[in-house]
Amino acid sequence: MAAEWGGRERALALTAAGIVILGVMLGRAAQLQVFHGGHYRSLSMQNRVKVIAIPSPRGRVLDRQGTVIAESRPGFALVLTGTSNWRPAVNKAARLLAVDSLGLQSAVRQQRSAYPKDPVKLARDLSPAQVALLEEHLAELPGMRLEYEALRHANYGPRGSHLLGYVSEIGRRELESRREQGYRFGDGIGKAGLERQYETLFRGADGCEYVEVDAHGRVQGGIPQMPELPPLPGVDIVLTVDWRLQLFVESLFEPGLTGAAVALEPGTGRILALVSRPNFDPNLFAGGVAAADWDKLSRDPSFPLWDRAIRSLYPPGSTYKVVTALAALSESLITPEIRMRQSCHGGMRIGNRYFKCWKKGGHGSLDMRQAIVQSCDVYFYQLGMMLGVDRLNRWSAAIGLAKATGIDLPQEADGLIPTTSWYEKRLGKGSVTAGIPANLAIGQGEVLATPLQMASLFAALGKRGLAARPHLLLRAVGPDGRLISGEQLDTVRIPIRPEHLAAVAEALDAVVNQPGGTGRAARVQGVTVAGKTGTSQNPHGDDHSWFVGFAPYEDPVIAVAVLVENAGHGSAVAAPMVGKTIGAYLEMTREGPPSLAAAGAP
Ligand SMILES: [Zn+2]
Repeated sequence: MAAEWGGRERALALTAAGIVILGVMLGRAAQLQVFHGGHYRSLSMQNRVKVIAIPSPRGRVLDRQGTVIAESRPGFALVLTGTSNWRPAVNKAARLLAVDSLGLQSAVRQQRSAYPKDPVKLARDLSPAQVALLEEHLAELPGMRLEYEALRHANYGPRGSHLLGYVSEIGRRELESRREQGYRFGDGIGKAGLERQYETLFRGADGCEYVEVDAHGRVQGGIPQMPELPPLPGVDIVLTVDWRLQLFVESLFEPGLTGAAVALEPGTGRILALVSRPNFDPNLFAGGVAAADWDKLSRDPSFPLWDRAIRSLYPPGSTYKVVTALAALSESLITPEIRMRQSCHGGMRIGNRYFKCWKKGGHGSLDMRQAIVQSCDVYFYQLGMMLGVDRLNRWSAAIGLAKATGIDLPQEADGLIPTTSWYEKRLGKGSVTAGIPANLAIGQGEVLATPLQMASLFAALGKRGLAARPHLLLRAVGPDGRLISGEQLDTVRIPIRPEHLAAVAEALDAVVNQPGGTGRAARVQGVTVAGKTGTSQNPHGDDHSWFVGFAPYEDPVIAVAVLVENAGHGSAVAAPMVGKTIGAYLEMTREGPPSLAAAGAP
C-alpha cells in the first residue's frame, strides 16, 4: 500500500555520474605516474620536484532560469610547506597578519602531528592589502608561499542558505575517511544542503604544476618539460527552483519570524522555493569560519543552521484533518454527506477528560465537508475514535507521511505517526485510551510532520492522488556543457479512491472561498486557491501557525506550506503568506512557465 519512490533508479543514475568523475580522476592519477617515471625519477628521488596543486573551481548553482546562485571566487592563502625550523617564519607571519602567534603555532603543530608532510594553510581568504604585504616580505618567510584557492561564494548571502548549505574546511576525522579521494588539509567540502548532497559533482579535480626546489624546499622555478595540468572545473547544478519566487518568499518572513515555507510544483515535485528562518550567511564559512562567527551560530538558541523546512517536526494541527477524513472515507466509516452522531457544543467528554473544540460556542451538527471548512474538532475527535491509532497510522503512511519524502537534501526527517505498539513500548500495555486517537485525529499529540511533507501531501491532493517525490536537481552539466545527470521524476498514485479525493479537495476549496471559511485570508484575485489552516499546540510557548494550500483548484501549478512558530492562529499569519506566494508565482509565470531547457549551458 505504501508509496514506492523508485529510489534504486535514482541511485543508479547518480552512480553513473559518479563514475564519470571517478574516471577523470583516475586518468589524472595515471598521468602523474607517467610524469614521475623516466628521467624525472632522479630529480624526484632527491625530493627536488614538488607538485603544487591548482585548485579546481567548484561547480556553480543555478536556478531554472539560469540565475547564478553560487559560484567560485578566487582567494589567496598563506601556506607553510617547509617542514623544519618553521617557528621563526610563523612568528613573523603572525606579526604581519596581526594574529596571535601562539595560536598559529599550535595550529601548525596539531596538523603536523597527524600529517607531518602536508602543507599547512596559515591564513585564508587574504585581503589584497594582506597579499601585497606578505609578498613584499616573502623573502623573510622561508618555507612559505602564497597559494591561489577557489572559494565558494553565495551570491545572495543568507537568502536560500538552507537549500544551498555551505562549504567549509574539511574536518580532521572527515579527512581521514576521504584522503583516498584526494582531499587534503585545508580543502573545502560541502557540509550541509546541496553543497553536501552533490559534493562529488561540485568538486571537480585539481590540476597541478611541477616545480624544482632546492635542498631547503625553496622553489627554484618551473620545469619546462613537465607542463602544468590544468584543473578540471566541477559540475554545475541547475535547480528546479524559481529564484524570483525564492526571493519573494524570503521577503515574506519579516525580521524576527521563525519558521519555514516550501513551494513546489504538483505532479512533478519540483521545488520552487524553500525557506527556513532564521537563516545564516554561507559566505562566513568560505575561507574557514572565524571562531567568533562559529560560536555565535552554533550557540544561537534559535538554531539558524537548522533547516526547519525538512528537519523540524511539528504537530500538523488541523491540516492533518484531511488525512483523518480520507482514512475514514476509505474505511467506509463515513460518507461526505453523513452528519456525525454527536453534534458540537464546544467540546465533548472522552473518558474522564473534556476535549474542547476551538470554537467555544460549538459548530452544531456537521457533515465532513463542513467539518473541514469550519475545522470542527469535535467532529474529528469522533472520527479518530472510530478509526483508532493503527488505521490512522496505516492511511497516513499510505499517502506519504511518517517517512522522509526522499528530497535530494541531506538529513531530512521522517516525521512520526504513532502506532499502538509505539505507545505501548513507551507507556506500557493498555496505554492507548480513547483520548489518544481523538487527539491524533486533529493533528495534535504525538503526530509530527515537516513543512516539506505537508506541502508534498497537499500537492498530491491537488493533483487528485498523483504524488511526486520533491526534488531540487533539474540537471547536472559538466564544464564542457555535457549533461552529467538529468532530472529524476518519481511519481506514484496514492491508494485513495478518486471520489474521496474529490470530496476532500472540494472541502479545501470551500475553506478558502466559502463565506465564513477559516482560510479566507489565503484568497487570491482571479484564481481559486484551496487549502487548510492549522494551529498546532506547542508546549514551549505560543501555538504554531500553519497553512497549506494549492492553486488553481482545478489543476494546480503550485502547492505551498507555511509554518510560523509561536505565531498563533494559522488563519491570521500563515494563510496570507501562502496566498501572497501563490499570487506572486502566478504573476511571474503569466506568460507561461519559465523554460526549463535554457539554463545551465556554460
Ligand atoms: Zn466544533
